[in-house]
Amino acid sequence: MTDLNQPMSAKSANAEVAESLREILERIATAAIGAGRKPEDIALVAVSKVQPPDRVRAAWLAGHRVFGENRVQEAMERWAPLRGEFPDIRLHLIGPLQTNKVKDAVEFFDVIESIDRPKLARKIAVESDALGRRPVCLIQVNTGEEEQKAGVVPEEADALIALCRDELGLDLRGLMCIPPVEELPAPHFALLREIARRNTLPELSMGMSGDFEEGIRFGATMVRVGTAIFGSRRAP
Ligand SMILES: *Cc1c(COP(=O)(O)O)cnc(C)c1O
Repeated sequence: MTDLNQPMSAKSANAEVAESLREILERIATAAIGAGRKPEDIALVAVSKVQPPDRVRAAWLAGHRVFGENRVQEAMERWAPLRGEFPDIRLHLIGPLQTNKVKDAVEFFDVIESIDRPKLARKIAVESDALGRRPVCLIQVNTGEEEQKAGVVPEEADALIALCRDELGLDLRGLMCIPPVEELPAPHFALLREIARRNTLPELSMGMSGDFEEGIRFGATMVRVGTAIFGSRRAP
């Protein structure tokens, strides 16, 4: 019998992560099919930032391989020791990137989703050449034109895309956005899709725990889901 005075055991917390992961994958498949798309065309990026290592490990043990982190330093501290053990993981950087962290980011991440200015793009190109590594790149678009939010404003997106792809030769595949919290996400997803379409970029990273199904309806090829898999990031 379960002793209710004991904190939830590591085992049940891990079982919960595996269960949530299964549930999210099912919801992704249902949303994809509902939109006339193939479930395998949508990648689930499990956002592991600030989560206890046990839960992250539980997702890996359940077969998941693609993880997202929003800070370079924290990601390296967390994942550097695990990468030997989990050689087939793919890490996405989904948070703002400072130019002084670019070298680490290029070395460590498989996908950089948050390019948002020419200076950053140029630095990524320089470090990619120096390191002989070419991460997949996405440009983050600040679709809501929010003062405090990272991302290139929509009217400057085409120019930044051209710089990254044509001039710098980055492996630019698509766009990412984070809609304003207080607005419906649909118009933002539609805008991102339109910018990608006119620039023939195939990848769209849009949709989080609260709106990934909507993202899929608008053509997301990557959804970034944290709390719906791992639970709250707040300290208990
Ligand atoms: C934290 C974060 C997510 C995940 O958010 P949840 O609401 O926990 O799913 C997705 N994208 C970015 C850029 C984030 O920083």
